[in-house]
Amino acid sequence: MQDVFEFSAPTAGPTVAVSILMHGDETCGLAVLKAASDQKFALLRGRLRIIVMNRAAYESARGPARHLGNDMNRCWSGRALMEDADEARRIEAVLPFLSEADAILDIHSMPAQDTPFLLVSETRPRSVALAAKLGAVVPRVVVALPPNLRGTALFETGLLPQDKPIVVVECGQHEGVHSPELALATFLRFLSIHGMVAPPDALRETSVEFYQTSCEIKLEQGPLKLARPMLGFDPVNAGETYGWDGSRPLIAEEDCRVLLTRSAKKPGDEALTLVRPIPGDRISMPHLPF
Ligand SMILES: [Zn+2]
Repeated sequence: MQDVFEFSAPTAGPTVAVSILMHGDETCGLAVLKAASDQKFALLRGRLRIIVMNRAAYESARGPARHLGNDMNRCWSGRALMEDADEARRIEAVLPFLSEADAILDIHSMPAQDTPFLLVSETRPRSVALAAKLGAVVPRVVVALPPNLRGTALFETGLLPQDKPIVVVECGQHEGVHSPELALATFLRFLSIHGMVAPPDALRETSVEFYQTSCEIKLEQGPLKLARPMLGFDPVNAGETYGWDGSRPLIAEEDCRVLLTRSAKKPGDEALTLVRPIPGDRISMPHLPF
């Protein structure tokens, strides 16, 4: 498979980029590539680029892997690019294509949770505005604070201008039957927002829920054990023990939701992300000239 697939309409218009397979085992983005390659929709104007981010991990001899060396979605910083690592070289190779894009949709899926959501950085208000428009398809938007425990992801990178909207869609479980459908629906909405495909006939009115990350938890001991199965946005009350890090109880400091959990086993592994609801009227949303 090649890395960059380009589709151009006969009429000039915006350039947009869609990132798939940043994690090589999150294959729902392939539905988008297939739909574009099979011309399942008419591109009315502009230029669409679908970028296969970590083809090596997807094509790994042992089957699709999340990553081979470093987690590619923790390497989107100037410091990470200085490292002698394959992921850094791949990021450098795709940066020019992302730089030319007016907006970026980054397609992912989750190991355990099956409640889709959109993820944006609070440092990029135009990403929040774009996510709100995509909320007709995925009505949950998580606004993330800058990372302090992990490396920088694409959606929050300083390697691209701050006014470029970048939205992650977490489509559901890796193998979930609905994940490819959701990836495709989000993608088509993304194109229609940019006037690149005909708008859908009718889009149900949905109110979008906004959340803010309250903390991301890494293991100190391991392994992670949850108090109960969690499907995504599971409410926990202040003082509740929602899991254990080895023998250490994980106790909620406030009423919040467990956004997602990972199969974390050893000290240093990323384990959990907690979010709290925020009222929509507290979100600052610039007008987007789409
Ligand atoms: Zn991912």
